[in-house]
Amino acid sequence: MPELPDLTIVAEELQARATGRTVLEATAPMPILVRATPPELARLAGTAITSARRRGKFLLITFARDGVDELVLAANPMLAGRFWLLDDAKQKVRARTGLRLRFSDGGELRYVDREMLGKLYLVAPDGLEAIPGWTDMGPDADDPDLTLERFRERIRRHPGELKSLLRNSRFVAGIGNAYSDEILWQAQLAPLRRRSTLKPEEVDRLYAAMRSVLAEATSRVRTLVPPDIHLQHREFLKVHLRGGEPCPRCGRVLRQIGGDEATTFCRSCQPPF
Ligand SMILES: [Zn+2]
Repeated sequence: MPELPDLTIVAEELQARATGRTVLEATAPMPILVRATPPELARLAGTAITSARRRGKFLLITFARDGVDELVLAANPMLAGRFWLLDDAKQKVRARTGLRLRFSDGGELRYVDREMLGKLYLVAPDGLEAIPGWTDMGPDADDPDLTLERFRERIRRHPGELKSLLRNSRFVAGIGNAYSDEILWQAQLAPLRRRSTLKPEEVDRLYAAMRSVLAEATSRVRTLVPPDIHLQHREFLKVHLRGGEPCPRCGRVLRQIGGDEATTFCRSCQPPF
């Protein structure tokens, strides 16, 4: 699942390489992925991309006509959605391509989703609030305004197990299954511990780990992914999906629970109390 570091870099790449390009034609080969009618999609033709950015687990691409922002494509790739930026639109169209944006220069931006779980919304620039869950979204986990003080205040209002808490976008936005494991291992806190059991210094440790893990991962992804924004690099993760391997900190065997949504942790470094 693309998370904050992955989507930040996709947004950076699109900002660098897709802005200024004019859309010749927009089509939805798999309309089920796109929350827009064909006439609404057709409005993209003739617009130019003015910006690409990330918010939570959404990638936001803005389109302008005659210099005025007109539409925003908000993509939540969920489990497996990927953007492909192609120099040549003649490349074979993959199965489960949800959206094709052909550019006037012969290039193309495509959204492909092997699991078909992602969602693409096309809204007016002031219409993001219509997207389900948008208004409930908490601050981005890397938001400079999310200071330690503000984090301490917010966490008081969000009970539950730490792993679920980190993944709850109403608390902080942008963290999923992989980076929640990395952050909790870094903070030396057990994933199933409840927030109510945390001492003040543990809350501070969680904040510090969240910031450092995400910042470091974003830097790593920046060196690994571009220009192939459809690829996801996770080989540098320390614990996630490494159950059975030695813990990089203490050397004991990492434990993994759950199936598709696996949680990996070290019982020694992350004691359950
Ligand atoms: Zn350990």
